[in-house]
Amino acid sequence: MSEATSTPVDAAIVEAAVAAVDAAAAVTAAAQGRLAAGDTLTKGDDSPVTVADFAAQAIVCRTLADRLGGPSGDVAVVGEEAPDDLDDQPVLLEGVAGLVRTALGAQVTDAEVVSAIALGGADASAGGRYWTLDPIDGTKGFLRGDQYAIALGLIEDGEVILGVLGCPNLPNPDGSTGAVLVGVDGTATIRTAGSGPVPIRVDDPATVADARFCESVESGHSDQGQSAEIAARLGISTEPYRIDSQCKYAAVGRGDASIYLRLPTRADYVEKIWDHAAGKFVVEMAGGTVTDVTGTPLDFGRGDRLHGNSGVVATSGRFHDEVIAAVQAVLG
Ligand code: AMP
Ligand code: MG
Repeated sequence: MSEATSTPVDAAIVEAAVAAVDAAAAVTAAAQGRLAAGDTLTKGDDSPVTVADFAAQAIVCRTLADRLGGPSGDVAVVGEEAPDDLDDQPVLLEGVAGLVRTALGAQVTDAEVVSAIALGGADASAGGRYWTLDPIDGTKGFLRGDQYAIALGLIEDGEVILGVLGCPNLPNPDGSTGAVLVGVDGTATIRTAGSGPVPIRVDDPATVADARFCESVESGHSDQGQSAEIAARLGISTEPYRIDSQCKYAAVGRGDASIYLRLPTRADYVEKIWDHAAGKFVVEMAGGTVTDVTGTPLDFGRGDRLHGNSGVVATSGRFHDEVIAAVQAVLG
């Protein structure tokens, strides 16, 4: 396997990103399982959002701006959440503000919370350097009490150059729970409660038939019937590892699985950059390969969506072409 290369990133930027994700992970972990009925709403696209999603976006944006924004406090973040969804929702806003204060201090006003969420409204089509943020990736998993991730990526001129994945519920081999993965500068690392950061590497099964694959829990996000056909073609008999969010990229990056299949369920769905930037970069820095279902590299230079791509296939690398051939045979 070839060594990963990438543009170096200042240590202060990496530290700020990790601090931001750590702070959001602590707040969301404390909130999970304690949400009341009024803490969740359904957005215009029919997807759920909770007080914890908004709070995590505010905490990450504020932390980045305080540490990196200079006198103007400017920081360009393309985040999933928009403050408009909190308009005329005083109860929800109070819930968000309460969570943000546990991380940033009791002095933070409601207006400052809204402004911090709004920091995530940068325009990805402006190019240059900007962050991508999914404050709670896998909100459905979060609500189920399962896996979710805080996913923070940094893009420069259409290329991801840093990925941080906070995975508060990820099970670790030593029996502990929770990990933070960082991909930067040719290396991927993991930190758990008891150890790290230590370098991680994708696994390298002897044949593709020995590979384990992972996919969404939600059948609406990836076609599970087609993935079963692809696995059968490749001779894979191990059951799929179903796990929400970019924890799938974490699983491939550290070798819990060797393949991540995200197979389109709708012709008109275009993947969002914040659902992939951080995770795909962690896998690449760990030595893996990430493309779409046709084998085309993911193109982060087209605004806030992956307009040039369809679905995602991530693998530990050596048998990527073989997996793409099987995917193409099944998808037609
Ligand atoms: P996962 O946890 O892997 O199932 O993915 C969660 C993400 O799926 C959410 O952040 C959504 O942005 C995204 N999503 C929503 N609808 C679809 C869809 N039809 N196809 C693929 N991804 C979707
Ligand atoms: Mg998401």
